[in-house]
Amino acid sequence: MAQQFDVVVIGAGPGGYVAAIRAAQLGLSVACVEREHLGGICLNWGCIPTKALLRSAEVFHMMERAKDYGLKAGDVGFDLDAVVARSRGVAKQLSGGVGHLLKKNKVTVIMGEATLTAPGKLSIKTDKGTDEITGKAIILATGARARELPGLEADGDLVWTYKHALVPKRMPKKLLVIGSGAIGIEFASFFNTLGAETTVVEVMDRVLPVEDAEISGIAKKQFVKQGMTILEKATVKKLDRKGGTVTAHIETGGKTETRDFDTVISAVGIVGNVEGLGLEKLGVKVDRTHVVTDDYCRTGVEGLYAIGDVAGAPWLAHKASHEGVMVAELIAGQHAHPCKATNIPGCTYCQPQVASVGLTEEKAKAAGHEVKVGRFPFIGNGKAIALGEPEGLVKTVFDAKTGELLGAHMVGAEVTELIQGYVIGKTAELTEEDFMHTVFAHPTLSEMMHESVLSAYGRAIHF
Ligand SMILES: Cc1cc2nc3c(=O)[nH]c(=O)nc-3n(C[C@H](O)[C@H](O)[C@H](O)COP(=O)(O)OP(=O)(O)OC[C@H]3O[C@@H](n4cnc5c(N)ncnc54)[C@H](O)[C@@H]3O)c2cc1C
Repeated sequence: MAQQFDVVVIGAGPGGYVAAIRAAQLGLSVACVEREHLGGICLNWGCIPTKALLRSAEVFHMMERAKDYGLKAGDVGFDLDAVVARSRGVAKQLSGGVGHLLKKNKVTVIMGEATLTAPGKLSIKTDKGTDEITGKAIILATGARARELPGLEADGDLVWTYKHALVPKRMPKKLLVIGSGAIGIEFASFFNTLGAETTVVEVMDRVLPVEDAEISGIAKKQFVKQGMTILEKATVKKLDRKGGTVTAHIETGGKTETRDFDTVISAVGIVGNVEGLGLEKLGVKVDRTHVVTDDYCRTGVEGLYAIGDVAGAPWLAHKASHEGVMVAELIAGQHAHPCKATNIPGCTYCQPQVASVGLTEEKAKAAGHEVKVGRFPFIGNGKAIALGEPEGLVKTVFDAKTGELLGAHMVGAEVTELIQGYVIGKTAELTEEDFMHTVFAHPTLSEMMHESVLSAYGRAIHF
């Protein structure tokens, strides 16, 4: 007889494994099916290994700047294989940690590929054959993979996806990055810092196009200062591969030019893993490559939920995990808290870092808000100067009538850590007064968060 569970989760990424643990904590019997690796893309091929690579690049950059700090570092260099080995080691450690957590919470882990055969029923292809299991509730957490555009397909040799770029066999000399979202810019930042001559092509009118325009502008200035070439409102139409060279046909303003590179990273978005799951048979609605859900991640098919990347944007690990917890609690009959899109932070770990939450100034105005905007530059902050990081901005956007924090946008050192202060504020629906009356430790970069709020109301002290 088929093994029976209260909950079966398909996929052990940050959506799936978190859902499985929370459901188990709530006393449900849970199976988590994974076809490749515990921790999903995030731990194995996404968030974590990229941050490990970027940390190496950051340390390298600091060593090159040693003189600025009165230090001497002779013969500064890097061993790419060792940098990559460190990143893979970090990923392996964390993937193993997920296995340990699932075991500790008594989640049954099944390594295999799952397909839905009927409502509540799954068939799982494993190394040993095919298993049948049932779940009163099933959570799809199958994630996503790199989008491939016709003519720009990766070959792993000259043209890479993020997976190839995470385990490069050689250091690019002339690198083209197609797409300047978080993934593209992080790889551009990594390879550029290590010395690749880097060009970034972005189809929209600015790099990091989802960010506030002012923040994108400051980030771009820094990228250019670091030697990157940034082409905006530009499209790569075709890649000709010959010998060790890729000739990119790049269209800008109606004109097409060609440029040669030895490596191309295609970072043009992702597509959801919806194939081979038996969704059509069950009548699950799929919009392009994402499962359509309501605010509670319900698919419309009784007992079937979809969370994380497979359920659509924003494609972020913390969104996946939040949905995982919410759905587990919903299934267990608890009060569930859906994600409010404007309270989900987004972070990009390039040099300088970029972080934001909520509406950009432009979007806030377009939504009909009369706004008050606060700005505080890093150059006005003592800790930033002491750290040798005087470039950056903390920008806040308030509703002029209600004092609601509509959005916060930052560029500069450590802003990916700072943003959480505003996220808590937004979730707790704090107003400008609450932020103003909060005491910020001195000297910290976080004082800029205070000053930015004060500045929105003409009260900044240090600028
Ligand atoms: C290079 C890169 C950097 C990133 N950096 C960040 C970052 O800094 N911060 C951030 O928040 N996000 C980042 N992301 C995005 C983040 O990785 C994803 O949002 C997150 O992994 C989504 O989690 P998930 O659980 O929905 O899916 P995934 O992590 O993709 O996990 C899905 C799992 O399901 C498994 N699976 C699929 N189909 C089946 C099946 N039929 N049967 C069994 N198993 C199946 C897959 O093998 C996979 O392990 C990054 C992504 C990339 C590519």
